Amino acid sequence: MSTGRLNIDLDAIAENWRALDQMSEQGVQTAAVVKADAYGLGLGKVARALAAAGARRFFVAVAEEGAALREALGPGPEISVFSGHMAGDTDMIYDLDLVPMLNSVEQLTRHFQALPRHPFGVQLDSGMNRLGMEPAEWAAAAPIILAQNPRLIMSHLACADEPDNEMNLTQLASFLDMTEGCGVPRSLAATGGILLGTDYHFDLTRPGIGLYGGLPYEGAHSVVALELPIIQVREIAAGESVGYGQGFIADHKMRVATVSGGYADGLFRAISNRAMLFHQDVPCPILGRVSMDMIGVDISHLTTNPQFLSILGEHQSIDDLASTADTIGYEVLCGLGQRYQRHYIRRTNPGIEGGQK
Ligand SMILES: *Cc1c(COP(=O)(O)O)cnc(C)c1O
Repeated sequence: MSTGRLNIDLDAIAENWRALDQMSEQGVQTAAVVKADAYGLGLGKVARALAAAGARRFFVAVAEEGAALREALGPGPEISVFSGHMAGDTDMIYDLDLVPMLNSVEQLTRHFQALPRHPFGVQLDSGMNRLGMEPAEWAAAAPIILAQNPRLIMSHLACADEPDNEMNLTQLASFLDMTEGCGVPRSLAATGGILLGTDYHFDLTRPGIGLYGGLPYEGAHSVVALELPIIQVREIAAGESVGYGQGFIADHKMRVATVSGGYADGLFRAISNRAMLFHQDVPCPILGRVSMDMIGVDISHLTTNPQFLSILGEHQSIDDLASTADTIGYEVLCGLGQRYQRHYIRRTNPGIEGGQK
């Protein structure tokens, strides 16, 4: 077997959900965001583990993901779609019982015409300028929309990972301004917003990255571990180079391992000559450029030739690797390729899990 081994700890995901659930008061519901194939970790398995832990409401980005999620979860859990009701979504929304978060007058019109009485939510723009109705638009249309009994009114924070950023208070004020007294359940917080405190929790929170072990939730249990097999080991002399473009040139004799895994597997080229792999506790630097399927690694200082080197796990988190590549943990997770052998870890019996605050 020459592909990397990706361990995904479903129990850790369930524990992270429970811990985030505990951070808000009794009566605040904690949903789970499983868009983009559950941040690259596998929609069906992750969503079923979260449902077993107690999650009853799920969010996806687009209706197609909602359809796949309904297939994985069966009837019961509420599935909401951030992108709302797009042309062509009507059958999926109706047949698979999805709840679109309507973002514009155009989407509201489409929804009320195509599926009158079918549940929906509303997304408002409190300053991020990405999705949702603008305050003026909402002010004009709110009476008509509220008369149709939306399930949820939500908005999204642009800077929740920066607790001191004034944008958080500005958006909170704008959201309160638009929704105070509306009589409909409200939601503003994703992972970062949960950590900002109870003022941001309203009736429902929508964590994503924190479930999967990423910042800004520093207390998260680690979820992924990735080991890459060593395909070949060679000695090189001073003056010899490693990899494309002679990206590394040795100034002394070295032992170089070629591991299986490259940018086609989501190991960014930007970590060339920068990131470390690990043998147990011992860091082993990447030598030269990351190729599509392989990476050269310095193992001169190891006393043995191991079979595998670790690139994600205890010694290097998704955010550690991300910062080496000038990106964020979200992108590391979503980039994890389809070539790895995936192993889902589940120590506890899902049948006996509780999960209510
Ligand atoms: C992705 C997303 C979330 C989850 O955000 P995290 O930072 O991963 O917790 C919540 N709400 C919306 C609207 C999103 O797009």
